Amino acid sequence: MKNEMNLQFSALSENESFARVAIAAFMMTLDPSLDELTEIKTVVSEAVTNSIIHGYEMEKGGIVYLSASIDSETGKLEIEVRDEGCGIMDLEEARQPLFTSKPELERSGMGFTIIENFMDEMVVESHPGIGTSIRVTKFFSKNNMMVH
Ligand code: ATP
Ligand code: MG
Repeated sequence: MKNEMNLQFSALSENESFARVAIAAFMMTLDPSLDELTEIKTVVSEAVTNSIIHGYEMEKGGIVYLSASIDSETGKLEIEVRDEGCGIMDLEEARQPLFTSKPELERSGMGFTIIENFMDEMVVESHPGIGTSIRVTKFFSKNNMMVH
């Protein structure tokens, strides 16, 4: 069985913590360890922060879309964070560790690298002027799953 959720919220920094709590609550049926929970919350907040500060360049505002699904047969958790912001010109460059287009905001350029390290798969799609979507996957052991 597949369990799905879709959320959309304003691109405001106070919603980073909302997104972290929302994904944590959604994934409770996977019975994650504390480390796993922390990692997934970090992944979601890195992606949501990117949409807010880069995609919508903070002041412009917009909508961030967060969706997730859990496949109880396979223990697969999929998450997508999407925005309709400015998009990324050079995706290969953006994904390099330590690359940031906003050094003046004291960003470290490690968001994509952290996300990729914590997840089993990461797919980023971006089109300048249209927006960015980041889809990530992680497999949880089925022994973990709570049976209802
Ligand atoms: P950090 O995440 O360490 O604070 P950062 O956000 O600059 O720094 P990454 O998260 O790795 O680093 O992102 C790298 C670059 O990719 C960003 O500097 C930005 O130029 C671009 N980028 C990432 N996400 C988006 C997005 N949703 N929309 C537009 N540009 C993005
Ligand atoms: Mg970032």
